[in-house]
Amino acid sequence: MSCEIKWKETAVKKKSELTRGEQIQANLRSEEYRKFLFNNPDLFARPVREPQRIEFRETKHLCWHCNDEVVVATSRPRLRVYCDECKEGSEKEKQETLKKYVELKIRVMYERALKTLEKQGSIMAWYKEPAEAVLEKALAEPEKFSSSQEMIAVMELLRNEVKVVLQKRVGNYVIDMVLPDLFIGLEIDGYMHQYKRVHDNKRDVAIRAVLGEKWEIIRIPTHYVDENAGRLLRAANSIYKYKQKIRGENGGLIPAWFSTREHEHYKELFGKLKNIK
Ligand SMILES: [Zn+2]
Repeated sequence: MSCEIKWKETAVKKKSELTRGEQIQANLRSEEYRKFLFNNPDLFARPVREPQRIEFRETKHLCWHCNDEVVVATSRPRLRVYCDECKEGSEKEKQETLKKYVELKIRVMYERALKTLEKQGSIMAWYKEPAEAVLEKALAEPEKFSSSQEMIAVMELLRNEVKVVLQKRVGNYVIDMVLPDLFIGLEIDGYMHQYKRVHDNKRDVAIRAVLGEKWEIIRIPTHYVDENAGRLLRAANSIYKYKQKIRGENGGLIPAWFSTREHEHYKELFGKLKNIK
């Protein structure tokens, strides 16, 4: 199969400058290109090489850090070569870079969280202390937060003086946050969860089996946190009561229709903010 892609032609114009016909052509071409890659997976396969005999012959190579000559026992070193002086230092440097990266990631996430709250028209003075606590926690334990929405949720809960335990391990699972005084396990879910409802339900059953019948796992879609975080606690409490009530009426089980109903419920609880810019 041949694949003619006229990169240059499309590269000259921005997508917005293409006529409708040209756009269709470009889309077809990229579709064709995808098909081409799909049908030719070998392009990215590693070449099958004859196992090479490692040649042990002392050879000079340049240190990747300071460019000094280093004598290595083989003529074809697979890894980067460092001189003795640089070995430890370069490893430390890599670690430092990684640490800086993680810290910046947390700070960007934190800034996004605060910006989102501002956009919602929140009174930021109310969030100052909770926000500082979140930042401090996140810098000390970066793995505790995986999104700005999680940060917002924790700020909101702390603001309401709700005790929060982050990344709580229960059996084989980890729950985003546990609110021990409210018997709520809270998951702030991205859009991916729409596709794993069955898995999520099994998970919830397993978690409740460990925590007990008083507990409910409540999943709040991230976009509600982005739209109206101020309603988070009220919504979680309301869903908690609703779930427990339904269980009471159904012999402890949550019927299949619930998740659709839950969705409607959320829409109602979070409402729409009029002052989103
Ligand atoms: Zn060196």
